[in-house]
Amino acid sequence: MTRPEFYDEGALVAVLTTQPLDRLLDYKAPEGGCLLGAFVEVPLGPRKVLGIVWGPGRGDWDISKVRSVIRVLDAAPMREEMRTFLLKAAEYTLTPMPAMLRLATRAPGLGDPPSMRKIYRRGEGEPDRATDARRRVMETLADYGDLSFTLKELSEMAGVTSSVVKGLVKQGVVSEEDAPRDVPFRRLDPSLPGKELTEDQAAGAAMLAEAVRSETYGTTLLRGVTGSGKTEVYLEAVAACLAQGRQALVLLPEIALTAEFLKRVQARFGARPAEWHSGATMTERRRIWRMVGQGGAQLVIGARSALFLPYQNLGLIVVDEEHDTSYKQEDGVLYNARDMAVLRASICGAHVVLASATPSLESWANAEAGKYKRLELTSRFGPAVMPTMGTIDMRAAALPADRWVSPDLQKAVQARIDAGEQAMLFINRRGYAPITLCRACGHQIACDQCDARMVEHRFLKRLMCHQCGETKPMPTVCPSCEAEDRLAPVGPGVERLGEEAALLWPDARIATLSSDMYGSARALKAEIESIAQGGADIVIGTQLVAKGHNFPNLTLVGVIDADLGLQGSDLRAAERTFQLMRQVAGRAGRADKPGTALLQTYQPDHPVIRAILAGDEEGFWRAEAAQREAAGVPPYGRMAGIILSGPDVAAVFDIANHLARADGPLRQVGAQVYGPAPAPIARVRGRHRVRMLVKADKGVALQGALRKWVRQVQIKGDIRLAIDIDPQSFY
Ligand SMILES: [Zn+2]
Ligand SMILES: [Zn+2]
Repeated sequence: MTRPEFYDEGALVAVLTTQPLDRLLDYKAPEGGCLLGAFVEVPLGPRKVLGIVWGPGRGDWDISKVRSVIRVLDAAPMREEMRTFLLKAAEYTLTPMPAMLRLATRAPGLGDPPSMRKIYRRGEGEPDRATDARRRVMETLADYGDLSFTLKELSEMAGVTSSVVKGLVKQGVVSEEDAPRDVPFRRLDPSLPGKELTEDQAAGAAMLAEAVRSETYGTTLLRGVTGSGKTEVYLEAVAACLAQGRQALVLLPEIALTAEFLKRVQARFGARPAEWHSGATMTERRRIWRMVGQGGAQLVIGARSALFLPYQNLGLIVVDEEHDTSYKQEDGVLYNARDMAVLRASICGAHVVLASATPSLESWANAEAGKYKRLELTSRFGPAVMPTMGTIDMRAAALPADRWVSPDLQKAVQARIDAGEQAMLFINRRGYAPITLCRACGHQIACDQCDARMVEHRFLKRLMCHQCGETKPMPTVCPSCEAEDRLAPVGPGVERLGEEAALLWPDARIATLSSDMYGSARALKAEIESIAQGGADIVIGTQLVAKGHNFPNLTLVGVIDADLGLQGSDLRAAERTFQLMRQVAGRAGRADKPGTALLQTYQPDHPVIRAILAGDEEGFWRAEAAQREAAGVPPYGRMAGIILSGPDVAAVFDIANHLARADGPLRQVGAQVYGPAPAPIARVRGRHRVRMLVKADKGVALQGALRKWVRQVQIKGDIRLAIDIDPQSFY
């Protein structure tokens, strides 16, 4: 191993800071010198900011004005592979390096020296008197297993005053200890026996373990239908990785809902892994960041930003539900965690497992092209089989305007209730009704800040804009014509479907699952668990229910509007509908009872609907791939979305038109610009949005050309320009 580069006191070093500057800054190395990659605090104007020693200084600055690094922070220096990863990720996504560094340092106080503080965790026994406040404290502790809290965190999360916690400490029910701020996670034991695997699964697990042990980069697309035991199979790859003394990362969408998953991991390895997500406390985030960097965390289960933790020795990245759209960050740094996982692994010689029942076309095409290995799990766990699929032709159902459950679906649901089984009604729309219409003048209530309709959320008693989150109370008078009591809901949302279900099945227990109907992830988790244990006859849900929950007694899924996703102009509309419908259908019949999925549709002959019914996934992918290839769109061509926005629509269009004319750098590489045009949602949060699309052939080095192209214009004032490489959404 080569000795890391060291800079003696006073030597010039270039520092990358988290501040939005377009260059590195020179500083003098502090007393005692510093290592390449060291986390440092440097003066910038009147402030102190975080930075990384990125290399030798350039010396192109008046040396008498160069200031010294204030101090080297108490954190392991950033490794070379991490610096390479940040550079390459920045290059690929056209993101400034300071923004990349911010992603890699998202932990509070990460440079603070080790210190002690009081921590609180579950003690012994039960409270002598169970008040509501005390019960909340006990529930919070129970939810987080053996994790510890600061006093502030525990009281805030339980919604009680700190004296309630202190009272419980006196009784010993909550324990108070002095602890170092950051302690290693409990060791996971990869040698514990895993779940018993079928022959098919064992072969898959062995193949993945072998790939991990090779310690060279590779990606495997692990395809398995819902319930095929994908998780058990890739947990064996995790075991092989841990047994080698390397670290593993499992990325999941919808991290808040992973209680069931964590239980499985704990059962396999005997302790809880590190959990990195937006719901984690600041204390936990800091601890994970430090422990990952010091090797005190072997396995991280996390949301996409867990990719940017400072792993010491990363051997495996699993991207579960790799097709999930939430892997694409749509705000700030626009990156796709699936693609960045592959990049990161290729730099550090790790293996990647992309797991899905319904892979993205990108991954499918990479496997077809031989870039990824392919592993198929076909048989479902135990005796269950994929559900029987059928359509209900809504043209023949002749429903009144405010009803959405066809008589056929009603009958099918009733049959399940009579048999003591569960049924699910799926609709991919939050809220009560997507449109609120004035019956007097035809006005539709829209958001003041966005070109979007406001959606009624009756449960919250408000109208909400799904673009900006703005809410307002439901007016009683039409804002346009001032007619009274003429506003009416149009179309179904999950809440309204719940109302219809209550009318159709007055004696059934109905549970409506929508993320905004629960105050906390915890309440939602509790509801899901209660449903799994048979606490409902009918489950009504949005996309949330499509994601991996186990409802063993559920044998029927009714999709209220299977056509919904087919209407957009999005190039992935067919792919997404296919994936979502297959996922939802996969909820039915997981245990020993066969399931049925019924799709209500007005287009039973649509090729996507037919492909879903036929269950011919390969056929679907092949047809879809051929179409995209003919159109030269991803994954058979390259795309970048350009979004310009600002408060003044004319100024935004000025810049856009200027860019469109100055397309020389793009033409040089054979890329074409389309637009500018107002974005489909032309105004969000008061900002006018204009889109352009750049298309190029697959082999083109698009980023360099894009960089040259946008550099030609000066973006001034309130205008923002965002470049979205490989865009997933086009709104
Ligand atoms: Zn809005
Ligand atoms: Zn009106």
